[in-house]
Amino acid sequence: MRKGIAFVLSAPSGAGKSTLIALLRKEFPALSYSISCTTRAPREGEVDGRDYHFLDHDTFLIRRDQNYFAEWAEVHGNFYGTPLAPCRAMQEKGLDLLFDIDVQGAAQLKLTMPEAHFVFILPPSLGELERRLRTRGTDTEEAILQRMQNARAELDESRWYDAIIVNDNLEKAYDELRATYLTATLAPALNPDLVKRIRGGL
Ligand code: 5GP
Repeated sequence: MRKGIAFVLSAPSGAGKSTLIALLRKEFPALSYSISCTTRAPREGEVDGRDYHFLDHDTFLIRRDQNYFAEWAEVHGNFYGTPLAPCRAMQEKGLDLLFDIDVQGAAQLKLTMPEAHFVFILPPSLGELERRLRTRGTDTEEAILQRMQNARAELDESRWYDAIIVNDNLEKAYDELRATYLTATLAPALNPDLVKRIRGGL
């Protein structure tokens, strides 16, 4: 059995990451999703324990200080963190785990999990990103401006990722994402005994 991979996706808000993640999880149900903790309030339709673990500020800081998180970051004025336990379980059980985290968190994981695969999803332009955020209608004007400011800074970070996908056409972007995922699962290092087994004809 091959080892599980850590598949990390980052994108500025509004790049279409959630839609792409939903498509990937539908096609690959065995790909587990790392449910983050956050101090931000739930959006309409979001469910505690499914989309995020929604925590108050103090609880988040206590967990952070107890090293409960594999990484954590302050994003758009709220705290977000990845619980460490599912990452450990993934490594032990050979499960693939999908992370939806910002560039600061991804940079931390790059240090602790250098074998992880990092994918950055970009909008076709910043103008289009702003249009999508406004159409989505879930954020205040202040939040939109902050998300746009963060997006400009995040774009520079995309250089050190393993793959960049421009989401100008959902079907094409999804094709690229699934190809990237499948390619990542084929790395020889994930399956060190494969050749030996093939040689042995087992
Ligand atoms: P949203 O509030 O729109 O769900 O997410 C805002 C940003 O926080 C997104 O860029 C998302 O990838 C990031 N994010 C979500 N969970 C985590 C996490 O556990 N750690 C980090 N560093 N970022 C996260």
